[in-house]
Amino acid sequence: MIIDCHGHYTTAPKALETWRNQQIAGIKDPSVKPKVSDLKISDDELRESIETNQLKFMRERGSDLTIFSPRASFMAHHIGDFEVSSTWAAICNELCFRVSQLFPNHFIGAAMLPQSPGVDPKTCIPELEKCVKEYGFVGINLNPDPSGGHWTSPPLTDRHWYPIYEKMVEYGIPAMVHVSTSCNACFHTTGAHYINADTTAFMQCLTGDLFKDFPDLKFVIPHGGGAAPYHWGRYRGLAQELKKPLLEDHLLNNIFFDTCVYHQPGIDLLTKVIPVNNVLFASEMIGAVRGIDPQTGHHFDDTKRYIEASTQLSPAQKQQIYEGNARRVYPRLDAALKAKGH
Ligand SMILES: [Zn+2]
Repeated sequence: MIIDCHGHYTTAPKALETWRNQQIAGIKDPSVKPKVSDLKISDDELRESIETNQLKFMRERGSDLTIFSPRASFMAHHIGDFEVSSTWAAICNELCFRVSQLFPNHFIGAAMLPQSPGVDPKTCIPELEKCVKEYGFVGINLNPDPSGGHWTSPPLTDRHWYPIYEKMVEYGIPAMVHVSTSCNACFHTTGAHYINADTTAFMQCLTGDLFKDFPDLKFVIPHGGGAAPYHWGRYRGLAQELKKPLLEDHLLNNIFFDTCVYHQPGIDLLTKVIPVNNVLFASEMIGAVRGIDPQTGHHFDDTKRYIEASTQLSPAQKQQIYEGNARRVYPRLDAALKAKGH
């Protein structure tokens, strides 16, 4: 089985974006604020948006199941207050749940949290619990920077975040550490802010001792771990300077990297530097990079091709990246698959 641990509902029907724009307009002018019930998207519309997009590519490329969460750049936690984020997150999570109901063999949910800058993360717990208990979601996306590029929250190792971590451990769900759109003109959303945040999250964990407090906590750092694998020597050296244990003991029982790296040399480096145990298959399609690579004639985000073409990974190691590691990092996914006889 091939499990893609990183997919977003980037192709939701237009009505969703229209509703969101109306919600944003309603922050300044409450008279135009839409009701949740104003948003009407039929099952047929959902089905079509998936069948002609994500599912079509999954079939063509040969992946089976995608861990599916709301569109990351649209989370935009910096917009409005907690109430705005909370209503928006509930709508987006419900749509992903409906997709998982329509295509139970191909999609399973991961939750967006109703984060808001300066608001206590424990306010996210009711939505998190609903997504796990009622929707059967198997993970969450945790935004380390709800301010959208201004980094006003404490680092991930701070007790500020502990209420979320306690729930994650209680339910056995990992967090993909995933920022949203950048409202800082210095940082392009998917080219700079995403990759910066991946690197920043890794370094925050390196400087702290979070996993002493939460030995079972699991983070997936997306986009191949940002700069971390490429600069592994720097991080090993910094850990040594800071009198931390070896990275294998300090971080790699808890931190995992996905394969959203869009060229062969990048995947080769990732799988050479990072132990195979810590690499999870993902493509993030249909996402930030939708084009075809003129050097290969294939989509940049067709990451399965790079794993297939790897000469350094054995078939057993490839299977670990495709399936085994995801089942270990997402125990609720493993349980859901076992319940279906997989
Ligand atoms: Zn993503």
